[in-house]
Amino acid sequence: MHTAKKYKFKAEVKKLLDILVHSLYTSREIFLRELISNASDALDKLRFETTRGSEVVNPELPLEIRITINKEDKSITVSDTGIGMNYVEITKNLGTIAKSGTEEFLKMVADSKDATNIIGRFGIGFYSVFMVAKEVIVTSRSYRKEDQPVEWRSDGLGQYEVSVSEKELPRGTSIKVLLKEDAEEFLEKWRLESIIKKHSNFISFPIFVENEKI
Ligand code: ADP
Ligand code: MG
Repeated sequence: MHTAKKYKFKAEVKKLLDILVHSLYTSREIFLRELISNASDALDKLRFETTRGSEVVNPELPLEIRITINKEDKSITVSDTGIGMNYVEITKNLGTIAKSGTEEFLKMVADSKDATNIIGRFGIGFYSVFMVAKEVIVTSRSYRKEDQPVEWRSDGLGQYEVSVSEKELPRGTSIKVLLKEDAEEFLEKWRLESIIKKHSNFISFPIFVENEKI
């Protein structure tokens, strides 16, 4: 058994999470745009590695994004066959804020006292998932043969847990979003499809919802 290690979110992440969770709900559908955008970036990076001749895990996998719905545990899962993350990468990438836009975002929100209009316009990234999630479980398998699969989980409050996964996983990343009670609208296939058509129209990789191509 691998035990999970707990980490605390960096202060700026906590600030961002606090704003996102306490914002009004009109923009929260954009969490899907952010997850799909990350999946697309990960697929681009994988394709780059393949093009430059790197050996990758599961070279046979098609480059695509799949979204599945589980009405039993009230979750949706966004999976990609992209570059994936190892333990060090997932701990750093999903615990801190690297991009400069977020700083600007935080400043704009502080100035306007209303995040809703601003959230939709900014690429606020992975953490926007906590507008709709009570818990998020990310499993990932890096494209590098020597890396072990990892699991990251958090309720978005103050800390997250990372462990080496026991499971044999295919290359890429899966993000399981356990929805808040007031976010169960996102369990509807038509709803997800319309959000994708509205916000992720330009994505160049195939996107499937419940095994049906959008
Ligand atoms: P950004 O996309 O602007 O870098 P995000 O908050 O959306 O910021 O994501 C943070 C980082 O987490 C990404 O830069 C990437 O390194 C990593 N990441 C997130 N989602 C994935 C994914 N599906 N596959 C691989 N890496 C990911
Ligand atoms: Mg992103």
